[in-house]
Amino acid sequence: MTDTLILLVALLTGLALAWRWVKRRETGEGGDPFVDGLEAMVRRDWREAARCFKRAAEADSDNIRAYEQLGRVHRELGDLQRAMKIHSDLTVREGLSGTDRSRIHLELAKDLRKIGRLREAQDAAEKAVQADRRNVAALVVRLELFESQAQWEEALSTLKVIESVSGREQNQRRSQILVEQARCKMDEGQGRPGRILVKDALKLNPTYAAAYILMGDSYLSEDRVEEAIQYWEKLPFECPERADLVFDRLERVYFESGRFDEMEKFYARVISARPERPDAYLALAGFYERKGEFQDAIRVLESGLEKVPGSLSLARLLIRLLARACQTQQLVDFSVQMADRLMKKARVWRCRSCGHEGDDFHFRCPSCHSWESLERPSES
Ligand SMILES: [Zn+2]
Repeated sequence: MTDTLILLVALLTGLALAWRWVKRRETGEGGDPFVDGLEAMVRRDWREAARCFKRAAEADSDNIRAYEQLGRVHRELGDLQRAMKIHSDLTVREGLSGTDRSRIHLELAKDLRKIGRLREAQDAAEKAVQADRRNVAALVVRLELFESQAQWEEALSTLKVIESVSGREQNQRRSQILVEQARCKMDEGQGRPGRILVKDALKLNPTYAAAYILMGDSYLSEDRVEEAIQYWEKLPFECPERADLVFDRLERVYFESGRFDEMEKFYARVISARPERPDAYLALAGFYERKGEFQDAIRVLESGLEKVPGSLSLARLLIRLLARACQTQQLVDFSVQMADRLMKKARVWRCRSCGHEGDDFHFRCPSCHSWESLERPSES
């Protein structure tokens, strides 16, 4: 009798356990809360991530990663005090490995940086680097902190370590730091040492627009106009998308010395090097307009529109100049021509799936056979 009872109890217990196990699997409970937390972070669901990491930390108070992530989540949520408390508590734990210590100090550095305590952030980043000299993420934060405090020497030496640890040269970043370092020197009146740094930057990165501008500005501040011009004039050929940054500067110095024809020649050179870019046509037309030479300005814009027919900024200036020059017939002709082009653009049907364009509407794209995929581009 007692044997039967024991057997029955055991059977029921087993059934209950199995039932719970099945239930937990169904509801997803009992999964790894740490993994759930990481998944919530990927979804940027910070509240859920905080709940998961908290559960993971409560289940195992040695789970350093869970605390570390919990702190990170609080930083994301803007609760910096809590984030700092969690991370700085972790730093005094015993038995941390070098890489753990490095990661934790790095998190603390990021908390401190976000709250604006840069000096302390710098110390924390320093500790992160000391704990693991190959932690590139820590080195990068250290570099960024030096940059935001304008400590360019230190930034450069950190960049050197990053380059040697990662095995990759970072010429672009190096040239940016050099130019900022040069700017500081020039602001302190050290023109020549500053320009030497900029020349180094240009050797590393010949397409860095800021370097040409700074170089010219520095020479101009010492009344060395010819050298200033020489650097500014290089910019449109090395970095065409920043060309307009030097147009004003060049016009100013050429105007002051009355060398209008040299300005004209310069714009012509820029146009012939990059005929597909509207900025030099615009600048040259504006230059003629200011001199009162409307016909020349109109001629430049017309030749620009031949090369870049879609440029609305060229069209707009041409309309204004035709009006100013009282060329009513040309103004009307050109305006109608522009309106036609814009209307044609608005009338076209384009396929959402394959990009096919045509004047006629189809319920099914004639090119890729998608259903109801044609639309007006202007409506998309
Ligand atoms: Zn299509």
